[in-house]
Amino acid sequence: MKCERIRPYLGTSHLKNLFCLICLLLSVFVLADTNLSVSQQLDRLIEKSDFSSDEFFNHYQQLKEHYPEHPSLENKAKRAIIDSAIALNAHSTEQYPEVMRQITELIPHITDEDLVFSLKSQLFFMGSFDNDNIAYYQQVKKLIEQAPANTTSTSYGYLLLDAANIALRLMQDEEGWHYFSLAHQFATKIDDKDFWSSVENSRGLALSEHGHFQKALTAFKKALAYKKELGVNHAVVYANIAFNFFNLKQLDKTMEYASRALGQANVEQNRYVEVLIKTLLGRVAKSKGEYQQSVDWFSQSLTLAQEDDIRDYIFAGYADSIYPLLHLGQIDQAMMHLVQAKAIAEKEKLNVESYLYELEAVIKHHQQAYDQSMDLFFQAISATVKNYNLSSAKIAEQSRALMETQVQELENKRLRAQNEAKQDFLDEISEKNRWLSWLALIITFCLLILIVLIFYVRRIAKKHQLHATTDELTHIPNRRSALSRLKKKMFTAKKSAKPLVIGMLDIDYFKKINDQYGHLVGDTVLIEVAKVCQQCLVSPDFIGRLGGEEFLIVLSNVDESTALEKMEHIRTVIEQLHFAAPELANLTVSASFGVTMLLDCDRQIEQLIHRADIALYYAKEHGRNQIQLFSATMLD
Ligand code: GH3
Ligand code: MG
Ligand code: MG
Repeated sequence: MKCERIRPYLGTSHLKNLFCLICLLLSVFVLADTNLSVSQQLDRLIEKSDFSSDEFFNHYQQLKEHYPEHPSLENKAKRAIIDSAIALNAHSTEQYPEVMRQITELIPHITDEDLVFSLKSQLFFMGSFDNDNIAYYQQVKKLIEQAPANTTSTSYGYLLLDAANIALRLMQDEEGWHYFSLAHQFATKIDDKDFWSSVENSRGLALSEHGHFQKALTAFKKALAYKKELGVNHAVVYANIAFNFFNLKQLDKTMEYASRALGQANVEQNRYVEVLIKTLLGRVAKSKGEYQQSVDWFSQSLTLAQEDDIRDYIFAGYADSIYPLLHLGQIDQAMMHLVQAKAIAEKEKLNVESYLYELEAVIKHHQQAYDQSMDLFFQAISATVKNYNLSSAKIAEQSRALMETQVQELENKRLRAQNEAKQDFLDEISEKNRWLSWLALIITFCLLILIVLIFYVRRIAKKHQLHATTDELTHIPNRRSALSRLKKKMFTAKKSAKPLVIGMLDIDYFKKINDQYGHLVGDTVLIEVAKVCQQCLVSPDFIGRLGGEEFLIVLSNVDESTALEKMEHIRTVIEQLHFAAPELANLTVSASFGVTMLLDCDRQIEQLIHRADIALYYAKEHGRNQIQLFSATMLD
């Protein structure tokens, strides 16, 4: 029946407001340390108000003004949470932009993660006006995911409850109950009885709505125990229990808890609960067949509901009293109530079409207009079917949309994970590359140093070698080099059976030149003689300095006469040497040559040199400035 579906207690649609109120309560607690009288006042406001009254708003404004401004950022943030809760609960939308601006400015400066999360939650609630759709559900879930690890912020707990209720409304039962169990775990973790009672009450309502009345009863009783322990208002929980017993058709228990609720509502001056309970008592009386009693209760609840403008119960007061009125034979009164109920339903856009047809059909039946009654019953049935089809279609559409968003969400998650993995891989590679490029740089540097080192060493070695094989003054091969080369030439010549000629050259009267012109001029003469001799020779022929003013000339692959010609040419060139300096205008230089050919019997160069020496001596002896070829007769 329709009347059973009208929500007589704090429903899930108020959960958001409840959340804000709890935030507000907590913030005031924090600001005021443990000012219990204030918290009790707030608590009374929560139970009493319909979350929209001006009285409520004014009262909170007054409470807010009790607290001086605290300069710290944290207190500013807590104040912003209070402001937002006030604005949200009073539906004071014109205040939203300013409070949202404040919160947005504060968030980047706050370091306390839980406080930031609470601020973000408030921002979220102020930014969302429709809390009954899939997008909202996704946003709540996203916000829940953003909660700091190990958070103890009750914002998180209330978001879990919000998610649980929306999931159930969107027919996502499994997720809904899962969120409830998360909220329960969270309540255990933070051990906050206030939040715990909210979890149990909210869970009780959801269970009752899903027909799990026995479980709902257990939950409500827990909520009641916590509230009693805290000494806060609990008339509404009594009311919830009473309704639950009514659903379980336990009328005695219903009456027992209804009277407790009524008594507590009086203590708390909670008119809202009073209206609920009087409506419930009307229904109880009706089901017991006590129609007059029933009509009286409905009339009382109607009066109160009209006074406080509690619209759902104005409708219930009119509609619920129709049956008992008919039973009492007051058909006209019943008809009047139906007219009123229809007007309210139309004004408030209540989805009660079938229920109204049914009531009218019953009235027509009592008026004995059976045909009309029948028609109306059929209309009631078709309205029910239409309603059923519409809600089925809506549910199907919601499920489809939810599925799509979930698939999208999963795909996004997968892509995010893939991107992260790619990024990690790239990071790893770039890290490796960084090391590799460093390594390459170091290796290149080392190689460069090595190359420079090798180059340098080779240069030094070359210099050393040059130094070791070259005569310092004349820059022609020195004695060691000249003799070593001669040795090689002798070996090659012997091997290839080709002739080899050596000439020993000694400058004549060199001592005199030294004495007459000085040692430096002597050096110049040595340099010049070496230079012209070298100019006369072509590789593989060469000249070397054996020491002092004595030189060795080696001619390869030449016969005797050619060798003597070449020696003669050199002698002539030396003889014709001229020195540019005027003081050396009269300086003449000549040299004597001792020449010998390689013989088959020669085994060592010393033998050759010895013969050349003899020939040279002979030349010196026989007038100098001449060439003498060794002959055995010279030995005599
Ligand atoms: P002879 O015609 O018999 O060869 O007479 P000589 O004066 O040339 O021979 P001697 O052996 O008496 O003198 C050689 C001189 O050469 C002695 C030495 O002072 C000089 N002498 C040797 N080496 C160098 C040198 O490197 N530079 C200069 N300026 N003189 C040198
Ligand atoms: Mg000499
Ligand atoms: Mg000499």
